Amino acid sequence: MSAAPLLRQVFGFDAFRPGQEEIVEAVAAGRDVLAIMPTGGGKSLCYQLPALMRDGLTVVISPLIALMRDQVRALTEAGVAAAALTSGNSEDENAEVIRALNARELRLLYMAPERLASGATVPMLRRAGVRGIAVDEAHCVSQWGHDFRPDYLRVGELRRALDVPLAAFTATADAETREEIVARLFAGAQPQSFLRGFDRPNIHLAFQAKDGPRRQILDFAAARRGQSGIVYCGTRAKTEALAQALNDSGLAATAYHGGMEADSRRQVETRFQREDGLIVVATVAFGMGIDKPDIRWVAHADLPKSIEAYYQEIGRGGRDGGPAETLTLFGPDDIRLRRSQIDEGLAPPERKAADHARLNALLGLAEAPGCRREVLLRYFGEEAGPCGNCDTCDAPPETFDATEAVQKALSAVLRTGQTFGAGHIIDVLTGTMTDRIRQRGHDQLPTFGVGRDLSKPQWQVVIRQMLGRDLIRPDPERHGGLAITLSAHPVLRGEIRITLRHDPAARARPATVIRAQVDDEDAPLLSALKAKRRALAEAARVPAYVIFPD
Ligand code: ADP
Ligand code: MG
Ligand code: ZN
Repeated sequence: MSAAPLLRQVFGFDAFRPGQEEIVEAVAAGRDVLAIMPTGGGKSLCYQLPALMRDGLTVVISPLIALMRDQVRALTEAGVAAAALTSGNSEDENAEVIRALNARELRLLYMAPERLASGATVPMLRRAGVRGIAVDEAHCVSQWGHDFRPDYLRVGELRRALDVPLAAFTATADAETREEIVARLFAGAQPQSFLRGFDRPNIHLAFQAKDGPRRQILDFAAARRGQSGIVYCGTRAKTEALAQALNDSGLAATAYHGGMEADSRRQVETRFQREDGLIVVATVAFGMGIDKPDIRWVAHADLPKSIEAYYQEIGRGGRDGGPAETLTLFGPDDIRLRRSQIDEGLAPPERKAADHARLNALLGLAEAPGCRREVLLRYFGEEAGPCGNCDTCDAPPETFDATEAVQKALSAVLRTGQTFGAGHIIDVLTGTMTDRIRQRGHDQLPTFGVGRDLSKPQWQVVIRQMLGRDLIRPDPERHGGLAITLSAHPVLRGEIRITLRHDPAARARPATVIRAQVDDEDAPLLSALKAKRRALAEAARVPAYVIFPD
């Protein structure tokens, strides 16, 4: 089976992390490989996935029983026949592993290097039909490092005895250690080496909250007229509509999605490859096999699925090393949609939790108060400083202490029973009388109107960032009504303070508040005020509220 479907079906990931794909391909092609990737970069996948792409058994040499256990458990849960031979197993457990090995049932076998000291191990592995060896934490073979494990020296012998390709993985990149690994594991033969920073410094990173998304994309594309670009959309229908809108504004654009005939898709691919200045408006189906070096910009009209997907998609820009611009739009609807897709999916609970955590990481990037590239590279395990080539480096966003605002919003969510969406919560906070407020008696709540110091758009910004920080979540059991999460508790208890970004778009249109005492009997004044509110709102596109006396 090929890599992409396995990545999705077995591991539940929607994209490779930077560097993974090339390594997976080399290992699967049976080459000797030395891969250096930072901690957290995703090395395990680089030997687990190839093990499933070829027949037979892959032996993984790993230094720690706990590491082996975790990986075997995760693989077994994903339906992969994997096991570990360790001194931590009972005799019965090890006997069962050996039986499965002899029956050639296993795809991955983990073992500590100390096992290789036993004369029985190599003959046993010979019988088991080993197709490849993977060495995790390969720097343990280095005598000068602080993790030296003498038994790692036996791995070179194992490779010679089995005569199969070997792939070595480590996060330690210094030249001496690398040379030692090559000398001791590959007997000096040069493996294919992967040592590449993840950074693509020529790609400018930018995010914007959705605020008239179609116009935002049209403006971005129009400012880059004549340059080849890609717009990624969340749905097929949207690719067609947006391509049409771009055409209508005089730009050359065409849609691309998996629902199109193979012929039409191929036509778009060739046209994009040959023509200068074409815009392809596509779903994520567009990309695999697109090898155009001079894509000058990539926009996301909807929030991508994860940081991995985001980086893979923007990474299609600027392959020639020339400058590339990106713009990623996100809004509360994206967040709600993704959360409910995760919750309503069929994945087991741990995978759902991991998906939520990955979404949180992406939202953290979207709302980053500092350099985005720093956040991005740290996520992949690489250290970095401010980059000077992202929107937050261009213009550092203003932040404000939002602790009280967040506490008010959380308490409004709690007091309304965690069953309402953002709109209603904001009505409660801003003390806006609506039919629903009246029906539910929510104007009687102590939180009614406590948030009049912020405008509705400002509250939307706060709520969006609260969703992003995972302080509140749509609850699928309650029709997507907002509920508070465990991470909100310390905020409610006043144990942590929350800093949020100001959103320039929301601040540009502050609310105009008309304050007046209105008696119940004073109906004419009330309707005059309402008319004035409407007029103001229409004339200046500013939200204006009539505040009623308590
Ligand atoms: P390393 O061994 O390089 O330190 P791991 O293999 O332990 O890194 O992976 C670190 C984390 O990244 C794990 O939680 C793993 O599930 C996750 N991960 C790996 N590859 C991907 C991917 N393509 N998409 C999303 N998450 C990934
Ligand atoms: Mg690891
Ligand atoms: Zn930056």
